[in-house]
Amino acid sequence: MKAIKCYECDIVFKSETRDDILNQLYSHYMEKHHAIITGASEQVKKDWMQRFQNDWLQAVNQ
Ligand SMILES: [Zn+2]
Repeated sequence: MKAIKCYECDIVFKSETRDDILNQLYSHYMEKHHAIITGASEQVKKDWMQRFQNDWLQAVNQ
């Protein structure tokens, strides 16, 4: 399992797969940080994905 912390709050998500944790994060953003998704420019979304991708690759399997 790898763990990724939400970039907006302290909730931590854990999963075996990148797609699953992305789904968890997306649902969480829709529920708790909706304005960030709706207000984000394409560049901000790109930067978010890049950051997530790096964090996912560097996260240690536990
Ligand atoms: Zn959050």
